[in-house]
Amino acid sequence: MNQVVGIPRGMFFYKYYPLWKSFFDNLGVLTIVSDQTNKQILNDGVKHCVDESCLPVKVFMGHVLDLKDRADYLFIPRYTSISRKEYICPKFGGLPDLVRCTIKGLPPIIDTEINMRKDKDNSALAAIEVGEQLGYTLYQSVQAYQLAVNDYRLYRSRVHNYELPHRIINNSKLTTLNPKTLKILLLGHVYNVYDSCLNMNIISKIEQNGGQVITLEMFDTRQLRLLAQQLDKPMFWQYGTYALGCIYSVIQQQQVDGVIYLSSFGCGIDSFVEYMAERRIRQHTNIPFLIISLDEHSGEAGMNTRLEAFFDTLKWRCRNENNISSYGQCVYDS
Ligand code: SF4
Repeated sequence: MNQVVGIPRGMFFYKYYPLWKSFFDNLGVLTIVSDQTNKQILNDGVKHCVDESCLPVKVFMGHVLDLKDRADYLFIPRYTSISRKEYICPKFGGLPDLVRCTIKGLPPIIDTEINMRKDKDNSALAAIEVGEQLGYTLYQSVQAYQLAVNDYRLYRSRVHNYELPHRIINNSKLTTLNPKTLKILLLGHVYNVYDSCLNMNIISKIEQNGGQVITLEMFDTRQLRLLAQQLDKPMFWQYGTYALGCIYSVIQQQQVDGVIYLSSFGCGIDSFVEYMAERRIRQHTNIPFLIISLDEHSGEAGMNTRLEAFFDTLKWRCRNENNISSYGQCVYDS
């Protein structure tokens, strides 16, 4: 069974690749991954996607194009929900259809639905369905999935120990040896935070400025859920629950020196989560908060200037403890 399954390096890639890669390896299925996002992938994606889409979806199209002539199947699961009683952005649910309707001449797409809203074991059922589609027995698929879950737990524990997912997956090393003295929470969707081309290398830039990057994936998700119960009503979106859980954790523990929110221009969820996050940080802390919005027109020089100014503020504060920012203490309600 020398089938080659292509996995596009976009959307939930930096969240679930280690799980699925291990699953396919355990079955004996060969996998290939699209290149890291580059100018060509970005431009191809933008050209093939409707203008209204957010940048991560456009980039995903570029990754599909990069793989389409090299794989027997494309693995694009239909993620509907990845946690109980919550949904994720509907663009994930429509992704396989969007790809099919947009790009001609594709190999068959494995688009098994993953919907954990009602049943957390749905992911195992999805794996069985994928195995069946590739000609494997129920027993083989269950075995492969159980081993994959173990590998995925190991990967998660490395991330909880402050290793960055894209460095684990891409096997890349730190590019700077600057001493890291400032802890920066870089908040955003996995596809914005860990895709170095899409975010114009923000993690390396933070490190070059002396920052240690902390991301949402490094937090204990059970803890984030508990903290998010402070919201007036539960979030409909899983990402929003976790992002605001992170913000409440920062408010409670003040364990970071600055917060950078990385958002996608045109993202419905970011449009209100970033606003809720900013209000809470400004109301309850003196921690500097910066929003960087990404789209295909974002310029690197503009981002560099904003980051430098942000770090100047942080360093100035370290030297002048008890400083209160020029806008004063925020007075509006959360
Ligand atoms: S959550 Fe936002 S950035 Fe992510 S796919 Fe949906 S619209 Fe795009």
